[in-house]
Amino acid sequence: MTDVIVIGGGLAGLAAAAALGSTGATVELFETRPFLGGRATSYSLPDSEVIDNCQHILLRCCVNLLDFYHRLAVEDKVHFFSEIPFMEPGGRVSIFRRGLLPAPLHFTESFIRLPFLTVRDKLGIGRAFLAIMLEHGRRKDLEDISMLDWLEEKGQTPNAIERFWRQVLVSAINEELGRMAASHGFQVVRLGFLATDDSYEMGVPNVPLGELYGSEAWGRMPNVKIRLRAAVEKVEVADGRVTGIASGGASFSAKQYVSAVPYDRIGALVPETGIDTSAFEHSSITGVHVWFDRPVTELANATLLDRNIQWFFNKEGGRYLQLVISASRKLLEMPRQQVIDLAVGELREFLPAARDAQVVKAHVVKEARATFSALPGLHKHRPPAKTKLENLWLAGDWTQSGWPATMEGAVRSGYKAAEFTAAALERPARFLIPDIK
Ligand SMILES: Cc1cc2nc3c(=O)[nH]c(=O)nc-3n(C[C@H](O)[C@H](O)[C@H](O)COP(=O)(O)OP(=O)(O)OC[C@H]3O[C@@H](n4cnc5c(N)ncnc54)[C@H](O)[C@@H]3O)c2cc1C
Repeated sequence: MTDVIVIGGGLAGLAAAAALGSTGATVELFETRPFLGGRATSYSLPDSEVIDNCQHILLRCCVNLLDFYHRLAVEDKVHFFSEIPFMEPGGRVSIFRRGLLPAPLHFTESFIRLPFLTVRDKLGIGRAFLAIMLEHGRRKDLEDISMLDWLEEKGQTPNAIERFWRQVLVSAINEELGRMAASHGFQVVRLGFLATDDSYEMGVPNVPLGELYGSEAWGRMPNVKIRLRAAVEKVEVADGRVTGIASGGASFSAKQYVSAVPYDRIGALVPETGIDTSAFEHSSITGVHVWFDRPVTELANATLLDRNIQWFFNKEGGRYLQLVISASRKLLEMPRQQVIDLAVGELREFLPAARDAQVVKAHVVKEARATFSALPGLHKHRPPAKTKLENLWLAGDWTQSGWPATMEGAVRSGYKAAEFTAAALERPARFLIPDIK
């Protein structure tokens, strides 16, 4: 009998499968779609161009995600950037990079020079960083208040909130400051800005996301079988245990099961878990892909201030840019052409070369269900890996991963579920790597 059935081929399910496979267990992974990666994936447009659903980035502090890439032997397909350009409308660029001082003071030099913040803004942000170091682990209400509440309590100026905190945190957490638990803002600052002098470095895959989980890597794990176009239609439960699953008209069974489906699927798939997801809400991300008739920038990427677009990523010699708008609720109802016009219009404010360039092609991806909304108070509703059913373990970015909805959170949840599963199979193993301090 197969040792483990994993349901869902997003990062959580893939991480669980790869980890369990490394123990010698036999694993079968069932994925509805014809490709792997779930919400972090790529696909072909009708003209055969392969695009990511949206640019996905990671930081060096995403230690479990990097470990997962290492298992798949694809870590060299992620390029890390140690300079983060901030751009103002008009085109002025300021570079955020580490300086000569050791962590946690490594940003002092570039921070002091940032021209888009005033001295008062910077002093306030410096005080807030200090408060984060002092309050972390001591203050008890950070899961229940919003980051905006906390920033206002710390007397941050409107300019610092808009041009620093909002700019950094909304993309990282995919939620507005007033709707994000302060604990998430703390985590980004602690791990990304303060922990070590390279933890902020931004990793951008230099291949389409789908290539990271290509079949080559799984070929090296013969005991892990991946089934694509294989939706699990039913999970059979008897006497507090999963006894099998149905997929494509056939039945399959295993000793242990890992569910790695999103929060809005678990209730229909395994109602016997009794997991209440009513406190969860979605938060959207919009990706706009624009191809120009000529190069419009030499920068590899930049975060853009004061407009809707928060980032651009240069995908092809400055001709093809991928633009990202996180927490993009207000764009969901907007017709696609209007989103393209808005994005291109804004981009032209930042990149003078784009003003004369013609748009050859553009494509909008509205991911209405991109992530769960990291709302204050939600932590109480995120379920652990252990379920009511004896041999069913839960993974997915929405479970208690200790992280917001990110690739790192998904992999952490997969590793956690895999540790429980491995123990139940009497193959105890540790997969989860603790956060950097
Ligand atoms: C547009 C966008 C941009 C993002 N940007 C970033 C970023 O820059 N950095 C970052 O860290 N994170 C980012 N994220 C978040 C990140 O993609 C997710 O947090 C993560 O990929 C979630 O992984 P998961 O495995 O938990 O869930 P999913 O990726 O949703 O995987 C669940 C899988 O289960 C499958 N499934 C569902 N039901 C069944 C069934 N019955 N049978 C079989 N299979 C089933 C689904 O098809 C899916 O493949 C972004 C997300 C989006 C959408």
